[in-house]
Amino acid sequence: MTLTFEERLTRLADTELNIERIKGIEKAFGSDNKKPLAIPGRALVGEGVLIKECRKKPKPRYFFLFNDVLVYATIVINKKKYINQHVIPLKDVQIKSINDSENPKLKNGWLIMSPKKTFCVYATTSKEKFEWMSHISNCIEKLSNNERKGFDQIKNIDIAPKWIPDKEADTCMRCEQVKFTMVNRRHHCRNCGYVICGDCSKNKFLIQSQSDEPLRVCNECYKILTSDRKIKSDNNFTSTDSSDESDAENDQFNPNSNDVNF
Ligand SMILES: [Zn+2]
Ligand SMILES: [Zn+2]
Repeated sequence: MTLTFEERLTRLADTELNIERIKGIEKAFGSDNKKPLAIPGRALVGEGVLIKECRKKPKPRYFFLFNDVLVYATIVINKKKYINQHVIPLKDVQIKSINDSENPKLKNGWLIMSPKKTFCVYATTSKEKFEWMSHISNCIEKLSNNERKGFDQIKNIDIAPKWIPDKEADTCMRCEQVKFTMVNRRHHCRNCGYVICGDCSKNKFLIQSQSDEPLRVCNECYKILTSDRKIKSDNNFTSTDSSDESDAENDQFNPNSNDVNF
């Protein structure tokens, strides 16, 4: 019998098997299980290893897709344990396919974009990629449908930038002068994701979608962010149409400027 995705979800939620499996996952996290995973109505939709692009290099991570959150962790193989638990609420997630030509080494990838974090993941096969992406978007759609019943308004979600991996920048991406060494360390701008030097990132700015603490931003972004705030407080609106060239650079991280295609 073939079940639709929706039927499978309804079946899985609260069934003995699903609860058992979620409890098993919690156990494998041990003291690293920061948030309770077994909550009423939550179902495990799928799980598996994906290659996640990290700051230094792509690494295998174990992903669990629940109907309302995406969880990923580092696998400690010998101990059959998971550590470094990350929980991303799906209601704020957007995904976007990555063309295989964009990365010569890794194929079958897509972007996972959320207010706190944006990163690339890669599946082993195109079939696997398709299944992950369609299941994730089905879960998101189901959540937003539920929300739309109560609130008939379009949500504008602030998405965190994807961090440019360290190895992609030998010199500062802003001043293009400073070469990175043991002394001249790499930093990341939390607004544009660029790899930048210390001099080009002397300021911090409160990006509420990412943290309660002010975060390191590059000088370019600081200028834009502080003038944005000024416009907001002066006129009570934000201008999104700016001819500033720094904005053009930010465009690639702005989900509103790209069509999300599944
Ligand atoms: Zn610099
Ligand atoms: Zn920046």
